Amino acid sequence: MNNPHRMCEEAVERLSGLEGFQLKRVSSWYFTEPVGYREQAWFVNGVAEGSTLLAPLQLLENLQKIESEMGRVRDFKWGPRTVDLDILFYGDEIVELPGLTIPHPELHRRRFVLVPLCELVPELRHPVLGITVKELLTGISEEGQEVRKVEYL
Ligand code: AMP
Repeated sequence: MNNPHRMCEEAVERLSGLEGFQLKRVSSWYFTEPVGYREQAWFVNGVAEGSTLLAPLQLLENLQKIESEMGRVRDFKWGPRTVDLDILFYGDEIVELPGLTIPHPELHRRRFVLVPLCELVPELRHPVLGITVKELLTGISEEGQEVRKVEYL
């Protein structure tokens, strides 16, 4: 994408306008090395925290609506896309539904998630794995998963 950072800011704006969702905090933005298909530009990632009256599936539907409104076009898994919104945690609830797993099943393996997450909630305990976000981050290798904070000019 030409301006991935701008897409992220727009996603946050749309998130803050969601009915039944109150946006609280947003992490810094990070340039992150692509994982999976590596021959592509770096991604921009960040994490937002909010409180919500929406049930997990309703929240997911609303996030998917934002994705499609922002013109998500994805040719193949892990390839470039306009925006990808995932639910990482929903309080300390464990959700196992068709099409929705919370905590997000990949979050503990991904530095591009854990680094921004750690900025907001380092002491949050993963309800399945039983350790904190900070502990999850120190437990994984940086190899092939470089993450650099976006510095503003
Ligand atoms: P993605 O490629 O990240 O957009 O994921 C695609 C699918 O993952 C969606 O169709 C969701 O149904 C499913 N999914 C499962 N768990 C989650 C979650 N915690 N957050 C977002 N999507 C999820």
